[in-house]
Parts: sequence; C-alpha cells; structure tokens
Amino acid sequence: MNTNVMHIYPKSKHTLGDTEFYMMWDGLHNMLAVSGSLALQFEGDDVSFDGKEVRLCPLTVENSKMIRQLFDFTNPKSHKGHNISFGLGDRLGLASVGHIQLVRELDVFPVLAQQSMRELNLTNRTYDDVLASAVWAVFREGYTKGYGADGDHLKTQDEVIYALECGYSMITLDCSEHIRNDITDASKSKVDALYKGLPTELTYSLESRYLNKSYQIDNDVTIEFDETDFKRTVLVYYDAIIHAAGIYDELIKGKSIDYEISIDETLSVTSPQSHFFVANELITRGVEFSSLAPRFIGQFQKGIDYIGDISDFKNDFIVHAKIAKKLGYRLSIHSGSDKFSVFPIIHEETDGKYHIKTAGTNWLEAVRVIAEQSPELYREIHRFALEHLVEAKVYYQITEDVSKIADIEKVSDKDLSKYLDQDDARQVLHVTYGLLLTATKDDGTSLFRDRIYDVLTKHESDYIEALKKHIGKHLTALGISLV
Ligand code: ZN
Repeated sequence: MNTNVMHIYPKSKHTLGDTEFYMMWDGLHNMLAVSGSLALQFEGDDVSFDGKEVRLCPLTVENSKMIRQLFDFTNPKSHKGHNISFGLGDRLGLASVGHIQLVRELDVFPVLAQQSMRELNLTNRTYDDVLASAVWAVFREGYTKGYGADGDHLKTQDEVIYALECGYSMITLDCSEHIRNDITDASKSKVDALYKGLPTELTYSLESRYLNKSYQIDNDVTIEFDETDFKRTVLVYYDAIIHAAGIYDELIKGKSIDYEISIDETLSVTSPQSHFFVANELITRGVEFSSLAPRFIGQFQKGIDYIGDISDFKNDFIVHAKIAKKLGYRLSIHSGSDKFSVFPIIHEETDGKYHIKTAGTNWLEAVRVIAEQSPELYREIHRFALEHLVEAKVYYQITEDVSKIADIEKVSDKDLSKYLDQDDARQVLHVTYGLLLTATKDDGTSLFRDRIYDVLTKHESDYIEALKKHIGKHLTALGISLV
C-alpha cells in the first residue's frame, strides 16, 4: 500500500465495542478497514498498519451485508412521515456520495438506490449490488438520517419478492400490464358488451359506489361518473386494482414498506376520474400505499424539461394533487429529471408533499465529467451512442432530432461538455447507457465500462460536485433552500 496517496474518509470512522471501522482510498480502490474482534466477520486481507493489525476489506455485497447487520443506519428505511422524498437512481453505483452531501442538511428523504428491472438488465447489475453501493456511500459519509431503496417499476410478484428479499424499503408496482389500452377509443357497444361480461356481484358493488355518484374533493373539485365513463374506467383499471391489492395482501401488508402504485406507463393520460377510481378502490380494499404515480398531461421525456402547455399542466396537476391530499397519500412524479418549468407547480400544489424520481441524468453528469476529463473516451462514447440509437430506442420513448447535434469531428475538446447542455444530445446519451455499459470488444473485455469507471474514480470529486450542482438545481427549482 502506498501510504502517500492513502486517504481516510473522516466521517466513516465508527467504533463498536473493541472494533474500529473506517473507509479509505488505498490509491487504487475504496476499501473498508476493520481492526478488532469483529474484523473476523469480514472478507479481506490482514495487514499491519501503523503497528496495528487491520483487515482491509473490499467493498463487496457480502461485506456490505455485514455492515448492515452491525450498523442499523446503513439499512434502507421507509420514508413515512417525510414530506419530500427524492428518488436518485444511480446506474453506475458511484453517485450516492454526492447525493448524500447535497441532502444531508435538508428535509429531503433520499431514495439512494432506485432501479427498475429494465435498468438492472441494461446495466448487468443486481439488486444486491445496487443496494451495496448505497450502503457504502452511507457508511463513508456517516449519514445516519435514513435513506430508501426503491424496487422501481416492478411488474410481477417474483420481482417484488426479489427486491424485498434484498432489503428494499420501497416497492413501486408498475400496473401497466394490467391496464387495458384498447378501451379508451372503443365503441360504446364494445364497452357495453365487455362490461356485461364482468361478474354481476362485482359490477353491482362498483355501481353502488360510483355510478351517477359524485365525490366532493374540495370546494372546487367534484368527481362524477356518468355511465359510459364509469364502464370504461372499470374496464381499463379493474385488473390493475386486483393486481395491486393482491401484491399488497401477500407481500406488503404489515411491513414497513413504502408501497407506490404506478399507473404512469400507459398510452393515455390518467384522468382525474381514473385516478380517483383506482385510489379509492385500493383504499376500499384496505391497501395502504404511500404514493401514486398517474400519467400527467404533456410529456415527461427523459433528461429534458417538460414538453407541453404549462397552464394545462397546472390545471391538470391541481386536481390530481387535491385527490391525493383528500385520500391521504402523496403524488409521485416519474421521469422527474430536468422538469424545471413545472417544479414550482409541483411543490406549490402539493403543499410540499411529494415523491420525485430522477435517475438517468445522474448518469449524464458522469458523462459530463468524462467529456471534461477524457475527451477521447467521450468522443468514442458519443459516436457509439449515435450509431446504436435505434437499438436503445426500443426501451425509451424520446423525440430527439440528431440533425441538431453538432458534428463531433468539428467540436474542440474544450467544448465537448456542451453536448450535455443540448437536449437532443442529452437524450441520445441518456437512453444508450445500457448499450454503452455492456458493450464488449472481440476478446470479451469491456469496450467502455472499465474506462468509464476509471475516469470517474480518478475524478470522483468532480463527479460529486457535478451531481450536487445538478440535483441542487432541481431542489432550488422546487423551492427547497439549499442552505
Ligand atoms: Zn414511471
């Protein structure tokens, strides 16, 4: 070990009985150092250091599980009781230190680990590994205020079980596969016929609750269902409600888990009636959920600001916010990165109680550091992303215009980071992360992955600062003071 380049993270020093713990940079890697009787519980190599026996332990999943057993503050927790929670997906497993440094003094509950199955697959990671990255950051920063881990956009019972077994504290149930997309535009006769096919006990009880009834949300908002609206709403959402209630009863009930209902990944915008119907039916069935993600009007595309009419958004959002307030949960805003023009509305109309998810732009900030610190690598990434855009767009809906992206052969090294400020380039780099991180050379070694990690490890402080600035801009736009 080269003690000249060694660095101990001061906030990572912890003591338990006769055992001392701290995290350090050994010149090549971040490591956990343990000295005392508990060292035997960890995998690592024993060295003598300043005349003391120390076990130097790699930051593995197994070692992170031992840390979680010994230090409760490193376990993910429910965010119940917190007004603002913030999803901070970290595709590389390197962003949490920056995120913690930003929020540690604020009343913002960070959900440091947050990945969907799609993101796990696209990055070749596991839920254990994603959580371990957050655990090490929390330990290193001595961050004891609590953080969450979100099994995001989970669709099946097996996926929920997987996330829960790994210790995740939040489950976002994606109901999209149980939401019918073929009803909204179906003819009245088709709707009538399909509705007739439902069990009569069910339609009877639903009709008694909704048909020709009105629900007063507040002085200005009343939810009403006429017959056609009602039948369509039942046909579109009924399976999703049964699915969400079933998962709750089997896997969530009685546990300290934040349960989020996601109905945002559908073809059509969620109407206030639909939102109310889904939420009210879940509550009627005894389902306790902490947040619900409707699909809002306009477009929430990846990595860029809101697309649509801001006053339309405001009118629509106000109603959703009132329904959530009345029924007692918070709205969740997905694809929340960079939606600066609507953040003030979100904060204001929810009385400062909401969940927002960001993820991909934390990756874009990593790409920004690469553009600044390793121009050649950035150029390769840029060309690869453009060449493989069609493959990436199978997973993500974006409306980029590549003709607006400046020709990289004509851009000087010092201007490369400007691509990260241009919407079309941002979207291209945003959606191609999976292909970039898993691309291999002919000999099977990584094309970019290892070099990306090398640059970011070497320039960690730049990445931390970039993240603080980027997410800090979100918080400021929401109206949260950073000091
Ligand atoms: Zn979503």
